[in-house]
Amino acid sequence: MPQQDPFEVRKLGTVSRPSPLPLSSEDGDQLFNFVDDSEKILFNTSLGEYSRSRSEGESLPAVEKAGPRRNIFFNPEETTAAIVTCGGLCPGINNVIRSLVMGLHYFYGVKEIIGIPYGYQGLAPDNPHPYRYLTPEKVRDIHQFGGTILGSSRGAQKVSDMVDTLVRLEVDMLFTIGGDGTLKGAEDIGKEIEKRGLKISVIGIPKTIDNDIDLIDKSFGFETSFDVASPIVRDAHNEAAGAFNGIAIVKLMGRDSGFIAASAAMSMPVVNFVLVPELPFQLEGEKGFLKLLEKRLKAKRHAVIVVAEGAGQHLFEEASAVQDASGNIKHRDIGILLKDRIGEHFKQQGTEVTIKYIDPSYIIRSAPANASDSIFCNRLAYQAVHGAMAGKTRFVVGLLHNQLVYLPISSVVNRRKKIDLEGEFWFAALQSTGQPFRMG
Ligand code: ATP
Ligand code: MG
Repeated sequence: MPQQDPFEVRKLGTVSRPSPLPLSSEDGDQLFNFVDDSEKILFNTSLGEYSRSRSEGESLPAVEKAGPRRNIFFNPEETTAAIVTCGGLCPGINNVIRSLVMGLHYFYGVKEIIGIPYGYQGLAPDNPHPYRYLTPEKVRDIHQFGGTILGSSRGAQKVSDMVDTLVRLEVDMLFTIGGDGTLKGAEDIGKEIEKRGLKISVIGIPKTIDNDIDLIDKSFGFETSFDVASPIVRDAHNEAAGAFNGIAIVKLMGRDSGFIAASAAMSMPVVNFVLVPELPFQLEGEKGFLKLLEKRLKAKRHAVIVVAEGAGQHLFEEASAVQDASGNIKHRDIGILLKDRIGEHFKQQGTEVTIKYIDPSYIIRSAPANASDSIFCNRLAYQAVHGAMAGKTRFVVGLLHNQLVYLPISSVVNRRKKIDLEGEFWFAALQSTGQPFRMG
């Protein structure tokens, strides 16, 4: 049996309707080109892997380029789109909503766009919240605000109920903006749609401030997060340096991956220790974190620590059993633990220290997107619209090797992206902080 291509993007059916976009026409007088489904980029950019595959006669995994297709599946005049936002807040959600609406409306002439209130809850049969009919006029200014104008939620809904709602609302395409949970939900919705033989396209625009979606280079909101965290780290340094033996601890987001913490530490290189979930470290012992901190204080009389929320969970006596409505484990507060243990350590020695603990998480995730993320959100949304209009389904739009591509949802939700502790990025973080490779 031939192996299935893990990067093949599903389609609702044959596409025969000419795109209304005035792009490259037969007479060739247009500047912009349609993108054909066959235009792909190599998944693996390693020359060694390329040579190996060629010599062994293997086909090279390749990913579909995003972009407007010459033929589309849906008749724009009769198309109803819906947008739903789930999970935690992240900078840029409103930018994505705005650009989806603008792209659908102005590029393709889709006039009915339904905003689903409060995440997947808004697709439940007993949803008490009104649907929002979105027009360019209604979304005109929303990019200036953080959060999501549609509201979000956690917690499971019955997939068949959600599909019933889509059928009742006569939705042809559902844009889901959310993290791994949302994408898994979108995949389940897409499967149920397929099982029922319906022609509803399901699209994911990965939203993860932690930048932990597998395979894709970066997700929207991530850059803004460390952009906002950077001056906070700067000010934390002022606090630390302003006291004799001053220690500032800044806790940043990063449930399973420490990209925000490491990026913030590198963007404001006054950080002496960055602790991430990927890093196994010990507090006690000659080579442990507390001894290193002690040495640092002796040398410079102040220290700045950035810690990701998911770091050091092994230091708690009991693993957290608390879950949120979606079943995500709620981590114990590593920032508080560090503050307490550092305090005890120096008290035992009779050394006076001043510890400032700063947790700006909610300020960061509710911030509006910065300029770079705003551009990125727009580009993701436009490409999502093109893919949806072409009848593609159960796919995400993302950046791979700096190019926008369509990937099956199933290919990105199997595992989380994590910092490679043997890679260049983490090495740069270590060079920036000066902390050793191992702590304990
Ligand atoms: P965040 O990055 O903020 O955690 P998320 O999208 O992962 O974003 P969740 O609260 O985990 O946020 O999930 C959002 C929605 O997706 C919830 O309504 C949840 O019930 C649903 N969901 C979560 N996990 C799954 C799953 N494995 N299958 C189907 N649906 C899921
Ligand atoms: Mg999640």
